[in-house]
Amino acid sequence: MKLPASGGCQCGGVTFTITADPIMHYACHCHSCQKRTGSAFSMGFLVMEESFDVSGEVTAWSRTSDSGNTNTRYSCAGCGNIIYGLGDTTPGMAKVQSGLLDDTSDVEPELHMWTCRKQPWVTLPAGAPAFDKEADAMEMLQAALDYRAARGG
Ligand SMILES: [Zn+2]
Ligand SMILES: [Zn+2]
Repeated sequence: MKLPASGGCQCGGVTFTITADPIMHYACHCHSCQKRTGSAFSMGFLVMEESFDVSGEVTAWSRTSDSGNTNTRYSCAGCGNIIYGLGDTTPGMAKVQSGLLDDTSDVEPELHMWTCRKQPWVTLPAGAPAFDKEADAMEMLQAALDYRAARGG
């Protein structure tokens, strides 16, 4: 992905810039992500908070996951598009909705999680790391980095 990468919501009220390569780009097929996106899966970039600049008015909503962790997501106050999230399990990092980039032409997940809830018609690319649920963060990160290296990225 070309840096800096810019993105924003549909109404233009919130814009952001990513200034360093994401740590990981993932797709999550869990039911909660299906609900919040109204789609088959969500896609997100995990980025260090210091390399993510967001401007515009956002509203926050927090939810406690089944495992007891708090996740807060931030949405545009105008159009309601979800912009990013912060969570207990990823301190110092933001989970940015990758479909919001202005240029989504090379947005491809490096890892798939919660594939136990994957829609049956979704076929994952050969060799893409896939986890039935979620694994240890370091294990998932290593799998994503290995896949990135194998693809020449
Ligand atoms: Zn908006
Ligand atoms: Zn999910």
